[in-house]
Amino acid sequence: MFMSKFPQFLSCRRKAALLLLLILLLTLSLSCSKADDLIGASPEEKQDDKDSADPKKREEAMDYEALGVNEIGEIMILMYHEIGEPESTWCRTPDNFRKDLETLYAEGYRLISMNDLLDGHIDVPAGCSPVVLTFDDGTAGQFRYLEKKSGPVLDPHCAVAILEEFYAAHPDFGLAATFYIFYETPFGQAEYIQKKLSYLDEKGFEIGNHGYNHGNLRRLSPKEARRELALQVKRTRDYLPGYNVRSLALPYGERPEEMSYILEGNFEGTAYRNDGVLLVGANPAPSPFSLDYDPRALPRVRASEIDTDGMGLYDWLERLSDNPERRYISDGDPATVAVPEERAEKVDRYRLGDKTLIPYQTKSE
Ligand SMILES: [Zn+2]
Repeated sequence: MFMSKFPQFLSCRRKAALLLLLILLLTLSLSCSKADDLIGASPEEKQDDKDSADPKKREEAMDYEALGVNEIGEIMILMYHEIGEPESTWCRTPDNFRKDLETLYAEGYRLISMNDLLDGHIDVPAGCSPVVLTFDDGTAGQFRYLEKKSGPVLDPHCAVAILEEFYAAHPDFGLAATFYIFYETPFGQAEYIQKKLSYLDEKGFEIGNHGYNHGNLRRLSPKEARRELALQVKRTRDYLPGYNVRSLALPYGERPEEMSYILEGNFEGTAYRNDGVLLVGANPAPSPFSLDYDPRALPRVRASEIDTDGMGLYDWLERLSDNPERRYISDGDPATVAVPEERAEKVDRYRLGDKTLIPYQTKSE
């Protein structure tokens, strides 16, 4: 994927030397270590903690171009449904889900939550790319307890257990996912709804809106749609008092033309507000700092290898690797938005908030 265009005319020795350099650079960029490891190479600079704490000094010492920093690039919001057997269009096997996590990790992706994306709070190491995991429908394979004599035990092959296991082995990958659930029985075990929702909340996972009954919001009347959205929030708060459901995954990916009552409304005393609305297909989302970013219509990438029409997770991994200018690559500092100078005009200044924009010069262009 990376080395296919290697020049043919070079001598063997030069090839070998170049290859070595490439491998070195690759290892460096794939490990996408903390910004502090990559800036200020000289020991004197390293010793001076004040220097690295000063954003101005940090900015000067950081080689944005070498890291490929591009905080105006696109971000994959991955869409999963069932985790189980056998693999099918809307079902990922536990082993394939593990493979997805391994691949994302190796390719320099790190987890952020949906709410962090909506807040433009992107905190991943320099050289890494953020990725968001979403799970629709609250299926049993996403979160299951097994009945044991000693009591309920987390099924090691459900999505929650796989995520936690991966995180234990790779703490720098992060632990985040949003579960877009509907009622009456999210995750399929009526006796454990309270236990599961509390568990998710405690671990920092998020609950999103997927309608109370998975109703098609395009077909429902505004009043029925408000009921769908508000009752989901109300029921979630029955389990998690005060919980703030902040985003909506559109059931069937369907939405009405008029979106105002989808974004915000209330029904019988329960107010709801969707800061983000997620679609079903089929490409990465624009950076939250981009003029193209529209939180009312966030596209997602289907995490599947079946019937992907060139728009699945692995299609996009390859495309983003081959076209790094499209990919969001972090500078390791959530307080700054660093972009190649020639792309600075694509930044939505309004969305920067209190973040500092750093347009940097590139030598090659
Ligand atoms: Zn659904």
